[in-house]
Amino acid sequence: MNKYEDDELLHLKNGDLEYIQFKILNKYNVKNCITLRYGGVSKGDYDSLNFRTLGNDSIENVLKNVEIIKNAVGFHQICKGMQDHTDNVIILDNCNKDEYKFENLNTTLVDGYIIKDKNIASLVTVADCNPIIIYDTKNNVVANVHAGWKGVINKIYINAINIMMNKFNSDARDLIVCIGPSIRKCCFTSKEKSFKDKFTTEFDYSDKYLTYEDDKETFHIDLITILQKELKKVGILKENIHVANICTRCNSNDFFSYRKATQSGKKDYATMACIVELD
Ligand SMILES: [Zn+2]
Repeated sequence: MNKYEDDELLHLKNGDLEYIQFKILNKYNVKNCITLRYGGVSKGDYDSLNFRTLGNDSIENVLKNVEIIKNAVGFHQICKGMQDHTDNVIILDNCNKDEYKFENLNTTLVDGYIIKDKNIASLVTVADCNPIIIYDTKNNVVANVHAGWKGVINKIYINAINIMMNKFNSDARDLIVCIGPSIRKCCFTSKEKSFKDKFTTEFDYSDKYLTYEDDKETFHIDLITILQKELKKVGILKENIHVANICTRCNSNDFFSYRKATQSGKKDYATMACIVELD
C-alpha cells in the first residue's frame, strides 16, 4: 500500500507519476485526482510536476505536465481560468469549455468551477491552499474550488454550493464535500494580530479554531475546523465531509508548499493540481 493510502484516499503510482484520489468520488464515478510532486518534466524549484503558469517555470513544461496527468488519468479536456483568491465561481460547460482550455491561459479570474456536462475537466492549482470538491450525488453535478485562507474567509465554497442549489436544484443533504491536502493547524501559524482579526471578525467561534503556543503570541489557525463548521451551517451532513489527512507543509517532500518555499527563502513556488471530471 502506498504512503498516503487510507480509509479516504487511494494513492496511485504510474511510473514516476503519483496522485491521490478520493475513494468516495470513485464510488460515484467522478474522475478525480490531486497530484504529488513527482512524474513531471519541470526542473529546479518546480521539480517536477508543476502546474503553475504565473511563476518562472516554462509554460512548455507546465503544458507537458498537463498532458502527462491528462493521459494517465484519462481526462478529456482540461480547463482553467486564472486563480486570484476570489470567490468567483463559473459554470463550465460545452459552450465555454474551449475558452477555458488550459493551453489558452485564460486570464478571467476564477477560483471555482461547476460542471454538469460530461468529459470536461476543471483544474485548480494548490500549494497549501485547500482544493475542495463538492459532488451532488442526486443530480450528478460537481464543483472544484480553490480556497486558501482568503477563500476560507470569503466563503467561495458556500458560493459554489449556493449556485449548485439555485441552478441545478441541489439539496445540501445530497452533497459530498472532499477537502484535499493543505496546510494544517500544525503549520499554519502567525504572530500578527491584524491577521488573526481577519478570522475572528468573520467567524465568532475562535475557541474552536484558534490556539496559542506557550509564548502567548504565536497562534495556530485550523482552517479545516472553520470549513467543517461553515459547511454544516448550510446543511452539509457531517458524514458527507471527507478530509484528506495530509498537511502539505509537513509533507513538503511529497507536496508543493508555498510556506515551505517562502521559509526557505525562495522567490517562486510550484503548485499541484486538483482535477475533476464527470464520466
Ligand atoms: Zn503541518
